[in-house]
Amino acid sequence: MGHLVPVLELGKRLATHHGLEVTILVVTTHSSPAESQLLDPSTAPKHLRILQLPPVDISSLVNPDTKIVTLLAIIMRQARPSLRSALSAMEHPPAMFIVDLFGSEAFEIANEFNMSKYVFVTSTAWFTALTIYCHVLDKEVEGEYVDQNEPLRLPGCKPVRPEDVVDPMLDRTNQDYYEYIRIGVEYSLSDGILMNTWEDLEGTSLKALRDHKIMRSIVKVPVYPIGPLTKPVEPAGPNSELLEWLDKQPSESVIYVSFGSGGTLSAEQTIELAWGLELSQQRFVWVLRPPIEGHGGSSFFTSGSGPDGTPDCLPDGFLTRTHNVGVVVRLWAPQVKILSHPSVGGFLSHCGWNSTLESLSNGVPMIAWPLYAEQKMNATMLEEELGVAVKLKVLPTKKVVRREEIEEMVTIVMESNKHGRKEMKERAKELKNSGKNALSKGGSSYKSMCEVINKDCQLRLESHKLQALQQ
Ligand code: UDP
Repeated sequence: MGHLVPVLELGKRLATHHGLEVTILVVTTHSSPAESQLLDPSTAPKHLRILQLPPVDISSLVNPDTKIVTLLAIIMRQARPSLRSALSAMEHPPAMFIVDLFGSEAFEIANEFNMSKYVFVTSTAWFTALTIYCHVLDKEVEGEYVDQNEPLRLPGCKPVRPEDVVDPMLDRTNQDYYEYIRIGVEYSLSDGILMNTWEDLEGTSLKALRDHKIMRSIVKVPVYPIGPLTKPVEPAGPNSELLEWLDKQPSESVIYVSFGSGGTLSAEQTIELAWGLELSQQRFVWVLRPPIEGHGGSSFFTSGSGPDGTPDCLPDGFLTRTHNVGVVVRLWAPQVKILSHPSVGGFLSHCGWNSTLESLSNGVPMIAWPLYAEQKMNATMLEEELGVAVKLKVLPTKKVVRREEIEEMVTIVMESNKHGRKEMKERAKELKNSGKNALSKGGSSYKSMCEVINKDCQLRLESHKLQALQQ
């Protein structure tokens, strides 16, 4: 979801704001109901076509230990024949080919069809810099990154703390690490790198990617911040009771708790979170997933429920004790609708980049509870650079976060008289406005998108002239 959402928004903007004909080619192994809803071709605007390629069967190529970046790389490699067929079947082959951040495996197809090629990083400029620079770190740093005593230096950018490195950098012997390095190297083979960020949000990292001598010599291609591209407010759905409940709550009094489309907590952590929320005495909406040991994935509630309907994974009687102040939603909620509701005043989030942008776009301060991917970097940036979040003291991957800490963080973010809340709220509001301005006509991200399109037209003109001369 974290990739589909911004890719779809990019497609919509190119079609509706920039007058292009856009086809989104979707490569998957299977689609969840939420994904299918998002990709429903009947909801696409004029000039945007969504084409789902046949699902890829990778069962014989992976094992239960295969990690996510490797999985995605295998999926992309296996999808290349159907990508080729889809492009061949088009009446007019496209001029520009934009791949998702894990899609550079398809660049060779862009070359075959004489298309210019771009990568769209659905995350930050800081993450982009780390990805591109990782092959240099690979030569400079000895031992595992997480064991380093000093932060990892990224020319011109904020250094990355060893404990914040992205998941594929956690084990340098794993194939995931090599795939990640390869991806970073391939970005520089593109005609440009698009990112879901904007000038005012990440000025330092963007400047480094463009101007820093060392970084520039590695990046080689132009970078284009075109965000924040976020999911629009969801259409009315089956959650009207939840929204009616929100309508009755005082302004900015509710904390929204969700760990994205894939985040799960352990059984012990789920209990501590429940107690932390209850002890804080704040109003809440919690999107609850069944706990699993370890990381990632999502499953369904298989356990029974207590007499008051409290799921077994929560403390006995939790729903009864909190029914005046909280709502537990199972598995999935209309997140943008919730974050844009005037009763919502805080967001306890796993810091997936889309959730982060959705929070910022609504001026909502956050509790940063990173779980996987690049979320630890996002959490650090939100707290230390942007000043819109409080971050967990100890990462949940290392230790169970105790109820007292959760209670304290919820209170900081939600209680207006506590030190910090006011400042975070003001910063979040400023960023909401600066993101809106960036996207509006004449704004930095709007102009950036125009630049890509103009440059691309120029490139094509030159290539046609060259072809004509050669003939
Ligand atoms: N989302 C949602 N309802 C949920 C959980 C997630 O609508 O209950 C959406 C959320 O609005 C966001 C996306 O799923 O657009 C999650 O993307 P993100 O990058 O935050 O995290 P990921 O799921 O990729 O880890």
